[in-house]
Amino acid sequence: MSNLTDSTMDLTIVGAGIIGLATAYAVSQRFPHLKVTILEKEPDVAQHQTGNNSGVLHAGIYYKPGTLRAKLCVQGVRQMTDFCDTHGIEYQRCGKLIVAVTEDELPRLKTLLERGIANGVQGLRQMNQAELHEIEPFAAGIAAIHSPNTGIVNYKAVSRKLRDLLHERGIEVQLTQKVISISHRQNLLNVITSNFELQNKHLINCGGLYADSIGNMMGVTSEIRIIPFRGEYFLIRKEKHNMVRGLIYPVPDPSFPFLGVHFTRVIRDDGIGVEAGPNAVFAFAREGYRFSKINLSETADALGFVGFRRLAAKYWRTGLNEMRRSLSKPLFVKSLQRMMPSIQANDLVPGGAGVRAMAIHRSGEMVDDFYIVDSPKALHVLNAPSPAATASFAIGEYIAQQAANLFNW
Ligand SMILES: Cc1cc2nc3c(=O)[nH]c(=O)nc-3n(C[C@H](O)[C@H](O)[C@H](O)COP(=O)(O)OP(=O)(O)OC[C@H]3O[C@@H](n4cnc5c(N)ncnc54)[C@H](O)[C@@H]3O)c2cc1C
Repeated sequence: MSNLTDSTMDLTIVGAGIIGLATAYAVSQRFPHLKVTILEKEPDVAQHQTGNNSGVLHAGIYYKPGTLRAKLCVQGVRQMTDFCDTHGIEYQRCGKLIVAVTEDELPRLKTLLERGIANGVQGLRQMNQAELHEIEPFAAGIAAIHSPNTGIVNYKAVSRKLRDLLHERGIEVQLTQKVISISHRQNLLNVITSNFELQNKHLINCGGLYADSIGNMMGVTSEIRIIPFRGEYFLIRKEKHNMVRGLIYPVPDPSFPFLGVHFTRVIRDDGIGVEAGPNAVFAFAREGYRFSKINLSETADALGFVGFRRLAAKYWRTGLNEMRRSLSKPLFVKSLQRMMPSIQANDLVPGGAGVRAMAIHRSGEMVDDFYIVDSPKALHVLNAPSPAATASFAIGEYIAQQAANLFNW
C-alpha cells in the first residue's frame, strides 16, 4: 500500500465492476508502460450491477442502429465469447425467443427483427407458433423472433479472471478503498480514499450507481442524474427447469426502457439455474437490493431532481404497477403466465435482485445510449446500462481510445 501512496499513478480507475476492469484490461493491452491502479469500495470485484445481473450475452437486437449500444454490443459479444474460450470460462449459446402473444404485438416484433438485422445480428429468424413450440414447448405465443446466438455467462467469473490477468500485468484492484474526494493539486489529481491519499495524472470514473456523484467531486455538473431501479428475480424450482430451455422474452413495451420480465437460464457460481424477472422498481437507495432498504438522502436527492419528477409524471401508472407487482407474488406470476400459462406460484421461490443505474436527463428522458463525458484529466462513464456487460470489452477499448486522444498517450 505504501508503494501506492509514495508514487504517482499514470491512471487511476474508480470502480471494479466489469466496465472498470475491461477498461484497465484494454489500457494495459495498448499502453503496457503506464502505471495503472483500480480503486474499489467493496471487498471484492463485481459486487453491484455486474454481479447481480441476468447473465445474458445479448446479441444486439433491441438497440437503435448506429448507436454505441448497437455497435459495441455486436462487437463486444464476440470479444466476450473469445475471452471465455481462451480462459476456459463456461458460457452457453442457449438461444432466445422474443414471443408475441397478441396480434397487436406483431408489428413491434417485425420492427425488432428489422433492427436486429440492421445491427448485423446473425441468424435471426421470425417463427410461427408451431416453430416456436419446437424450441420452447411451454411458451405461449402466436409468433416469435429466434436469436440462436444469444447466450448466458457468469459475469462474476469473467470479472474475477480479468482481476487475475490484470494482477499478472502489475495492475492491482485496491479493495475496500472508497473514493471520498478528488481535487486538482499541482497539475495532478489528488484522490482521497477511506484509507489513503493518491496522486494521479489521469482518472477514469467507472463508478456505476455512483458515477454521477464521483463526477461531481471533480466539478462535472452534468444534466443527468443516476436513478436506481431495482430488478427482482424469482428462481424456478429445479424440478421445473425443463420448462425453460433457453431464454424467453416478451415483446418489450416501447414506452418503457426495460425489456419486461422474462425467463432465463443462468450460470451462477453454484451452477446452472433458471430465473424469472427482473422487474423494474424505483429503489429508495442506490444500493437498495431490498424494498425495505431506504437511504433518506439518496431518495430525497432523486425526488428533488427535476428530471425524475418529469419522468414520474409521465410513467407514474407504470411505476405504481411495478411496485404493486414487486409486493405481490400472484401479480408477478400473472405476468409470467402471459408467456407461459402453465407456470404456477409454487414453481417459484424468491431469488436475488440487482439495481440498475439509469441515467436520466433533466428533461425527464432516459439517456438511451452509453454516455461518457470528459473533464480536465478525466473521463466519466455516466451511463452504462444493459447490454454493457455483454459489450464490456468493446466499451473498454472505446474508452481506452478516448483516453489516448484526450490524455495524449
Ligand atoms: C438487474 C440487472 C440485469 C441486467 N442484465 C444484463 C444482462 O443480462 N446482460 C448485460 O449485458 N447487461 C445486463 N445488465 C447491465 C450490466 O450489469 C451493467 O451494464 C454493467 O454491469 C455495468 O458495469 P459497471 O462496471 O459500469 O457497474 P458496476 O458493476 O455497478 O460497478 C461499479 C463499481 O464502482 C464501485 N464504486 C462506486 N462508487 C465508488 C467509490 N466512491 N469508490 C470506489 N468504488 C466505487 C462499486 O462498488 C462497483 O463495484 C443488467 C443490470 C441489472 C442491474
